[in-house]
Amino acid sequence: MPPSKKKSRAKEDSVITRYPTPFKENNLSDEKKIALIQKHFKEILTVLGLDLKDDSLANTPQRIAEMYVNEIFSGLNPKNFPDITLIEDKFTGDTSRVVTVKDIKLTSFCEHHFVPMEGIVTIAYIPNGQLIGLSKINRIVKFFASRPQVQERLTVQIADCLRQVLDTEHIAVFINAKHHCVSARGVNDDSSTTSTTSLAGDFQHNPVIRNEFFASL
Ligand SMILES: [Zn+2]
Repeated sequence: MPPSKKKSRAKEDSVITRYPTPFKENNLSDEKKIALIQKHFKEILTVLGLDLKDDSLANTPQRIAEMYVNEIFSGLNPKNFPDITLIEDKFTGDTSRVVTVKDIKLTSFCEHHFVPMEGIVTIAYIPNGQLIGLSKINRIVKFFASRPQVQERLTVQIADCLRQVLDTEHIAVFINAKHHCVSARGVNDDSSTTSTTSLAGDFQHNPVIRNEFFASL
């Protein structure tokens, strides 16, 4: 099947969602970002009274800087948005119209405390003439999760991105996550989780389709 011509446009649009991460472009290269974060993290550790001459700590500022830029916050850089190839939906007319991807593993970082939130994401959509490779849905989740986040924004960013990429109004996103800022500090509640849902199109207005989605969770 030939890839859709919408590929490049989808990539461009989908990073700029209606629900942007508060972000100010500073035009620093990745290398410069790593150098600066390393320098500042060294200061934080020194202020805490840690001895950076110790073998175990000596490379911590560099490790953190590289982890921030290349891994856990790599979704702040639009160039890291995954390549999306859409394929023609040849199954139009079939009665089972809903595509669901369940239990996508989520790891993100809370922007209030910079500690992890971990959970699962379930996504469903009704195709509008084109399908997306299923692993691409996981990659879109990973892209938006690789930012300092709040779960509510993450949920709508994923939904809005898929709405644009797939050109369909019918999108459902459900996230259930445990927040380490709740479990490992503060109230130290290790059992509570937070659920957020974004429903659009038939998932919002058609009770049968909505109920099927919630039953699938
Ligand atoms: Zn937090």
